[in-house]
Amino acid sequence: SVEASIPEPQREAWRKFMPKHFTTAEEFEKETVRHIETTLARSLYNCDEGAAYAGTALAFRDRLVLDWNKTQQTQTFADQKRIYYLSLEFLMGRALDNAMLNVDQKDVASAGLSDLGFRMEDIISQEHDAALGNGGLGRLAACFLDSMASLNYPAWGYGLRYRYGIFKQEIVDGYQVEVPDYWLDFNPWEFQRHDIEVDVQFYGQVNKWQDDEGKQQCSWEGGEIVKAVAFDVPVPGYKTATCNNLRLWGSKAASGEFDFQKFNSGDYESSVAEQQRAETISAVLYPNDNLERGKELRLKQQYFWCAASLYDIVRRFKKTNRAWKDFPNQVAIQLNDTHPTLAIPELLRILIDIEGLEWDDAWGIVSKTFGYTNHTVLPEALEKWSVPLMQHLLPRHLQIIYDINLQFLQFVERNFPKNRDMLGRISIIEESQPKMVRMAYLALIGSHKVNGVAELHSDLIKTTIFKDFVEIFGPDKFTNVTNGITPRRWLHQANPRLSALIASKLGGHEFLKDLTLLHKLEAFVDDKEFRKEFREIKYANKVKLAKLIKETTGDSVNPSALFDVQVKRIHEYKRQQLNIFGVIHRYLQIKAMSAEEKKKVQPRVSIFGGKAAPGYWMAKTVIHLVNQVGKVVNNDKDVGDLLKVIFMEDYNVSKAEIICPASDISEHISTAGTEASGTSNMKFCLNGGLIIGTCDGANIEITREVGENNIFLFGNLAEDVEDLRHAHLYQKYVLDPALANVFDVIQNGMFGDAQSFSALLNGIVEHGDYYLVSDDFGSYVETQEKIDAAYKDSEEWTTKMIQTVARMGFFSSDRCIDEYAETIWNVEPLVPKEEANLP
Ligand code: PLP
Repeated sequence: SVEASIPEPQREAWRKFMPKHFTTAEEFEKETVRHIETTLARSLYNCDEGAAYAGTALAFRDRLVLDWNKTQQTQTFADQKRIYYLSLEFLMGRALDNAMLNVDQKDVASAGLSDLGFRMEDIISQEHDAALGNGGLGRLAACFLDSMASLNYPAWGYGLRYRYGIFKQEIVDGYQVEVPDYWLDFNPWEFQRHDIEVDVQFYGQVNKWQDDEGKQQCSWEGGEIVKAVAFDVPVPGYKTATCNNLRLWGSKAASGEFDFQKFNSGDYESSVAEQQRAETISAVLYPNDNLERGKELRLKQQYFWCAASLYDIVRRFKKTNRAWKDFPNQVAIQLNDTHPTLAIPELLRILIDIEGLEWDDAWGIVSKTFGYTNHTVLPEALEKWSVPLMQHLLPRHLQIIYDINLQFLQFVERNFPKNRDMLGRISIIEESQPKMVRMAYLALIGSHKVNGVAELHSDLIKTTIFKDFVEIFGPDKFTNVTNGITPRRWLHQANPRLSALIASKLGGHEFLKDLTLLHKLEAFVDDKEFRKEFREIKYANKVKLAKLIKETTGDSVNPSALFDVQVKRIHEYKRQQLNIFGVIHRYLQIKAMSAEEKKKVQPRVSIFGGKAAPGYWMAKTVIHLVNQVGKVVNNDKDVGDLLKVIFMEDYNVSKAEIICPASDISEHISTAGTEASGTSNMKFCLNGGLIIGTCDGANIEITREVGENNIFLFGNLAEDVEDLRHAHLYQKYVLDPALANVFDVIQNGMFGDAQSFSALLNGIVEHGDYYLVSDDFGSYVETQEKIDAAYKDSEEWTTKMIQTVARMGFFSSDRCIDEYAETIWNVEPLVPKEEANLP
């Protein structure tokens, strides 16, 4: 049982002065002005929008903290199982708007700010995005935090507090330039926990000996120690008192600030060297999406974060004084991809080397505690670490991994004696030069459940990368949890007018807690007034995006044109190249038209956005091509408003919140079988945007939900991809004729120096077109023509938009979290109690 720190006789005084939530504009103003005048030391005379943002954020932070305290107290006293979500990325975006809406006080704050002389919109836009992630994987983790809190699950997120999040992207002369994202100048949403520091060890050597009872003992000695410092970020649920915790670890030198002896002897530079080396660990997010690079610092980050998190989780468990066998009944740890896989050998190390458990008992605990989410089947994204590197950095963990592998291989040998070939394939250690540790196999073997993130993807992992393991463990170890998105941020916050319109029809905002209620909108599909308002909202959102485009690129676009959007990380498998080749094809068609023919053309704005990993040359070439095409097309008087091509700089969460509600068509056109799920497809649909897509990832389930009439599918199927690739390599390769035309004009210099695009074209023409751009080009172009025709029938299009929104109920991340809780975590919700009701 847990004791309160204040003795009973003194609690009365404490309770008397407990701060209360503000509920009126006046109370909000009082809090905000107090923070501006005192916490920030600004005044009536020098309060700009930045300071007003800071004051507002601090006023809301106070509210969150009160709920946070209550939530943590309730969870501690209730002493039930908790979820620990380990993710190297949390792509949170801005926090203020979300906090105001989740605690249902945005109107109060708007009125208050207006009294103080500010406009809500200007204040919200002052906030720097918390961009601690690359793309879908990190944003998923953020949506999951929102859902876990909103559904009252006792849950913690654990991540790294990068000093630099994903870089800012600038476009200079049509090229991507990376600029550091220093986001911590002012961050009111985190609390440094000065009392929570964990020593994390690296390098050193392992000593083994027999103790007096003849038992083998093991210790990890020497090397270097780095301190992990906890920074806590409150995560408020929607209209509930639950406020969960996201704990981010920062690194610092173990031995205080700097080496005083070196400093005194005049060696100033090396006096701070240790400190700087330690701080490097949490300095920067690796900017690769779906690509692993095997850098030592990355492995250090992973272990640093796993070790600190596990220490914290074990410490919390030990406070309950339970037996170790209870650990899996109290702790569910979810591994978001293989990045936190070292948590498995780390927990074994703690249990065996430090707590003295036997291997079998420790393994029993570990293998009931972890769940592993796979996010990709792309070979270049599957994590492997070289054995020599791991030996050097984490010698004890490597031994444990070898022990796990030995036990596993012996188990397989016993159970599949006739299948010796399998042993080499399934070994955690790849017998390459150098040997490599296959992290996905380690994660799978150490977890009790493995899940993919959309139906097709979950099927694919069972027939490709994990085929042997399905035979070994049986199919029940594998499951699917199709990704989802939080409707709070991606509908209510991003598209307040649509949220209000839906609420007016459904009799309130309940649908934000149960998204399946959206199906009731179908009853209004013929309601003239509703249809009109729905269209007006879409148009207003497009006007807002057009304004942002004007401000950021200088280009004017017509909001009445069809907005065609592809925003996501730039990647060959996501096929932005297919999109831009399609745009060039369209441009050539328009150029060849008579004035009469042009009148029939559906005007379009093609909008691209997304970052390329700094070392990913092909992706950078695509960005350059898009910009070059934009330069030519947007200045061509023959084309005018019929076609505009925009590249939006620095795509991030807060831009996504403006872009998603403003699209008519968005593109989710990955080579079939390559995109695990995608989540932006769901965000667009939830905002009444239709999609053009391949039969890939969650597009398939979106089709099942919205109906084939409401989605524009094209292209080859996943099951045919391998044969097509094979054919490219061994048969004479014939390029799609329309695509050949596109390549001709690129090669003739229509978009500037042809040489700079040659690798992109050669990859298709000469190197086997791995991503099947040419195979899918014909059906892509044809489908775009169907979209033009469908868009012209505004009534029919309106029906499609409304039906799409009405049928998106399945894609709430609340549904995902309930599925995880039931099928993987076995965790129950827990509503925070008032302090007085606690034991
Ligand atoms: N990047 C950002 C900034 C996002 O908001 C999202 C959200 O969906 C993604 C990437 C993921 O996009 P996709 O699912 O299209 O890969």
